[in-house]
Amino acid sequence: MIPVEKNKEYTVCIDTVASDGNGVAHADGFAVFIPQTAIGDTVKIQITDIKKRFAAGKIVDIISPSPSRCNIDCEQYELCGGCQLRHINYTQQLEIKKNIIENAMRRIGRFSDFSLNNMVGAENINRYRNKMVFPVGYKDNKTVCGFYAPRTHDIVPLTDCLLGDELNKSINNAIMEYMSENNVSAYDEKKHTGIIRRIFTRKSFLTGEIMTVICANSKSLPAVDKLVERLTNASDRISSIILNINTKKNNFTITDNNITLWGKSEITDSLLDTEFTISPQSFFQINPQQTEKLYSKAIEFADFDKNQSVMDIYCGIGTISLCAAKKAKYVIGIEIVEKAVLDARKNALKNNIQNAVFYADSAENIVPKLIAQGETPDIVMLDPPRKGSDESTLSAIIKANPKRIVYISCNPATLARDARFIADNGYKLSDSCGFDLFPHTAHVECVVLLSRVDK
Ligand code: SAH
Repeated sequence: MIPVEKNKEYTVCIDTVASDGNGVAHADGFAVFIPQTAIGDTVKIQITDIKKRFAAGKIVDIISPSPSRCNIDCEQYELCGGCQLRHINYTQQLEIKKNIIENAMRRIGRFSDFSLNNMVGAENINRYRNKMVFPVGYKDNKTVCGFYAPRTHDIVPLTDCLLGDELNKSINNAIMEYMSENNVSAYDEKKHTGIIRRIFTRKSFLTGEIMTVICANSKSLPAVDKLVERLTNASDRISSIILNINTKKNNFTITDNNITLWGKSEITDSLLDTEFTISPQSFFQINPQQTEKLYSKAIEFADFDKNQSVMDIYCGIGTISLCAAKKAKYVIGIEIVEKAVLDARKNALKNNIQNAVFYADSAENIVPKLIAQGETPDIVMLDPPRKGSDESTLSAIIKANPKRIVYISCNPATLARDARFIADNGYKLSDSCGFDLFPHTAHVECVVLLSRVDK
C-alpha cells in the first residue's frame, strides 16, 4: 500500500539529500524527493508524482527553514535546472557531497566502513565554468536564449549565468541582436525548422580569451559580417567565432563540423604547467582551477617515477597523460573521440613530450588487445564518463596486474560498482579524496587509489 496520494499536501521534515540534489523526506514512512530543500527543513509539500517505491513532491510552503539555508543570489534559480544546491550554504554543500560519495561506496560498492579521506572545496564558487551552452529558441513568440527548465526543453531566459564568465551576457545579447536585426530564426526542435540552435562558449583561464561557437541548422549564416562586427565590438577577449553545423534532427550539443568565421579555430589553456590546445568539440575539464588539485592528487596516488609506465584510459585530449608523462617512463593514452586524440598528439608536440602515445579507440576494444599483446603498465589511471568503465576493460586491466589503479570519477555510483569489481580481483581500496568541481550543483568528483595486494 502506498500511503501518499497525488496532489495531496503533507507536512514533512527533510532528513537527507539524494545524489541528484533533491531533499528526501518520509511521508507516512514513504520516501518523497523534493527539489530545493535542505536537511532540517520542515516544509509543506504537494505530491506531484508517485512511483512504486518513492514519490516526488514540490514545496508549497517552508514552515521552518533549515539553518543551512542561505541567500539565493540567482534570480532564475527556482526555474532553471542548472544548479540544485544554491539555496544551501557552501560548507553544507560539501558535507552533502561527501555523504553522496560515502553512501555510494558503502551501499553500491559494499565497502561497509568506507569514509572519504578528504573533501576538497573550491575557492571560487561562482564564475568557475570555462564552458557554457545556452540553447536558443522561442518563448511567448520571442527569440530567447537561456537554460532548460528541469526535465523539459522549455527555455528559461537568461543571458548571464553565475557559473560562467560575465562576458557571456554581452556575447548572448550580441547574437540575439544580430538575429533580430537580420531576421535570423531560432531553431525549432519539434518542427526541425529555423537556424540558430545554441550558443556555446569556451573560456581560457590562462589567457582570458573566449571562443564563441554558434551551433546552427545551416551550412552558412546570413549577414556573417554583421555577426562578426557585433561580437568583435562586444569585447576584445573574444578570440574566435565559429559556426558549428548540425542540419540533422537530433539533440547533439555540438558536432565535428566547424567553420571558423573569424579568429582562431582553437583555444589554449593550461593545467599543471602543461598547455593544451582545445577544439570546440573536445572534452576539457570545465573547472580548471579545481581540476589542477584533482590531477595533483591523482598523480600523488599513482606515485610513479621515471622507471614506470602508465596507461591513461579515457584520456580526452591527454590532460592527465601529458601531466603524467613528465614524471613517468612513458604513457599510453586511450580515448574514443578521434578529434580529441588528434588534439592530444598535438598537445604532446606543443609541450615537447615524446614519451606519450595515443590510441583513438574504445577502451573495451583496445585495452584487452594491448594487454594481450604484452603491454604491462605499472600504473593504470582511468577517468571514465558518467556510465563508468566496463567489465572487459576492467578485466584486461586486472590481467595486466598493475601495481596501482587510480580511478577518477564524476559519478560515485559507477565508481562504487567498478571499485568493487577491482577490489574483488586482488586490489585493496587504500585512499580516496573528493573534489568539488561543480559548486552549487549536485555533481561531485572523486579519486580513489586501489593498490595490488601482493601475496
Ligand atoms: N581524462 C580526461 C577526459 C575525461 S572525460 C580529462 O580529464 O580531461 C571521459 C572521456 O572518456 C571523454 O573524453 C570521452 O570521450 C571518453 N570516452 C567515453 N567513452 C569511451 C570509451 N568507451 N572508450 C574510450 N574513451 C571513452
